[in-house]
Amino acid sequence: MNGRKRHPGEEKAEAEKKKKLKVTQHQGHPHGLYNQGATCYLNSVLQVLFMTTEIHGRLDAESQTTDRELRKVFEQLEEAPCETKNFTRSFEIENVYQQRDAAECLELILHRVSPKVSEVFQGQLTHTTTCSEGHSINEETNSFWTLPLSLKDAHDAPYTYSVESGFKMIFQTKSFSEDNLVYCNGCQKKTGATSGCEMEKHPQILTLLVKRFDLDPVTMSHVKSNRCVDVPRALQSKNKEYKLYGMVNHVGSLRGGHYTATILSKEDDTWYEFNDVHVNKVQKQPFAKTSSYNSSTAYLLVYRGEITQVQKESIERQGKMGKDGIQEEEDAKQDTVSNFNEDREDDLSQQRPGNLTTAEEREQSVIPVEDDATNDERCPSPRSSTNIKIGISIGFGFALIVIISVIVTYLHKP
Ligand SMILES: [Zn+2]
Repeated sequence: MNGRKRHPGEEKAEAEKKKKLKVTQHQGHPHGLYNQGATCYLNSVLQVLFMTTEIHGRLDAESQTTDRELRKVFEQLEEAPCETKNFTRSFEIENVYQQRDAAECLELILHRVSPKVSEVFQGQLTHTTTCSEGHSINEETNSFWTLPLSLKDAHDAPYTYSVESGFKMIFQTKSFSEDNLVYCNGCQKKTGATSGCEMEKHPQILTLLVKRFDLDPVTMSHVKSNRCVDVPRALQSKNKEYKLYGMVNHVGSLRGGHYTATILSKEDDTWYEFNDVHVNKVQKQPFAKTSSYNSSTAYLLVYRGEITQVQKESIERQGKMGKDGIQEEEDAKQDTVSNFNEDREDDLSQQRPGNLTTAEEREQSVIPVEDDATNDERCPSPRSSTNIKIGISIGFGFALIVIISVIVTYLHKP
């Protein structure tokens, strides 16, 4: 404090300056969620969903209560720290002082949102069993939202558990032989067999669950494992590459623990620690110098499917084809590659009834970008994006008519 007396105008200007400074400081810095008692599990999951911008445009606020509540939370989070009372009420969470499982909470939310939202997280696994003569004994395909990684399966206990090896283990072939033969209808007897698992459909967002809460076979009670896991930044599954952007962490014991989330913000490419209403930059940024990250608290790992080189080239080809076409396409081309893997897929699948999942399907369906405006918005209204599309179609049609009339006039000249 200095002793100089200030004029009211000067004070006002000072206050304005402070206000501006505050706004500047908070720009790009994510906001937290208030804890109602023990709702940290919900807060962590909501923050992950908020940072999963792929789902924002898919929320159907008009027909689904959960979609509407999620949208409200997301809109508030853009501006300031947010309450979750309406969300818990609509979700019928009566006891907000009771700790719940974050993975179950995520599944519950995915159950209740519209299918367009949950399909972003949905993948399919096909399990097959084939006898040594090549007969198919069993084949079944199941959908999943999260893939569990059993810490007990790993051979390297009690040392650091490798998430990459654990993930690969899901797809490892298993053999049945000797005293473990399987009955085959084709051979009409018990034979040796192999069973395998394939990712039939890759989810856009791949969620892995590190099974820290598991049943102890000796005591027959649930225990929590604080085992250190090695989390890779990138995961490869067939031709699809996934990149980690979020982790839900659990600290503490089985009953009295606490959940936080560590998420990469796309706005400033920085990892933040979300601890209820407190959000801070992670002091030592994960993956800054290494391709993996050691954690004894990581519980849910959320990976985003990256665009492949083949897809990139295809988009670029498509972009070049439209070069002498419409100006909008030309402008949008610049951002096509970087934005395609999120919002573009949303647009594509909204236009087509079947969800486009495989690289081949996506390649066939790639269209030049029409409206870039929706890419910058967190919750673009489907109507406005449709209007732009219709506008471009009309514009293109009109241009075509003009060109044809010019040609016709030219041909009729003597
Ligand atoms: Zn057989």
